[in-house]
Amino acid sequence: MDCFCGQKKEIGKNIAELFKGFEIRECQECKQLYSYPPPVMKTIEAEVYQEFNSRHEAISEFDMNYARLNIHLLNGKNVLSKRFLDFGCGNGATLKAAKELGMKSEGIEINKNMAEYVRKQGFLVHASLNEVKEEKFDVVNISAVLEHLPAEEDILEELKKVIHVKTKVLINVPNYGSFARRFFGKYWMGYRRYEHLWYFTPETIQYLINKKGYKIEIIEQYPMGAGIDRHGSFVYESAGYLLDGQAFGIRIINAIIHCIDKMTGKNIGKFIRTRGPKKCGDQIFIVCSLLG
Ligand SMILES: [Zn+2]
Repeated sequence: MDCFCGQKKEIGKNIAELFKGFEIRECQECKQLYSYPPPVMKTIEAEVYQEFNSRHEAISEFDMNYARLNIHLLNGKNVLSKRFLDFGCGNGATLKAAKELGMKSEGIEINKNMAEYVRKQGFLVHASLNEVKEEKFDVVNISAVLEHLPAEEDILEELKKVIHVKTKVLINVPNYGSFARRFFGKYWMGYRRYEHLWYFTPETIQYLINKKGYKIEIIEQYPMGAGIDRHGSFVYESAGYLLDGQAFGIRIINAIIHCIDKMTGKNIGKFIRTRGPKKCGDQIFIVCSLLG
């Protein structure tokens, strides 16, 4: 498995060993960072992505906040009745958020259980981009996807079949350049040994997007849960990962914040979000479109 630039991953420079047998390497050609050794994709698809089941289905308040945060960069733009495609739609939270804004939404999802769950909510869900009819979408969301795909699964290229020059492509990826990553070290929530193949900084993601023929219109860095209202701090989210390495921790901490908000009538999450250091958030959010 090679880097985006074609360079062999074996010759990348080891910049950090997180755990025994799990390194972060830097490509000597294009400076892209990646997990090393790269996981075997077939095994990952079968064992990691298909394992998500009914336990992961229900759409939580956290999912909805994240979904709304994800598409909030479209605020102020006329999206009513636009056609929306969510690449990797998971449990359908973002489809639901797009529908709330008035968009006609459909998704792509490789996990069969998830796809079925989302279909039951009334959305059209495809197993891959190949199944999508050659229709032009006005908004495409690629949220928390690029860091999972090997270079040969070139969705930014394939996507060109179903978009037009005015299509807004929303992309978000974990931010390796974030303060949280430096602060939490190997316990940073963005590290996933078997799922995240790539670690992007604002510079490397911009480089990749430009190289694929897109221009960046907006680029922001927010805490992952900085959505609406109460969920909103990379500090307590990362602390959640620190506790048990799973999103479970986040939910407990969110619940505590929620209880404090309820008891005091204050909105701590929103306070942290609006006053917090936005530019060093865990997640990079981008709006881009075709170069022309
Ligand atoms: Zn490279």
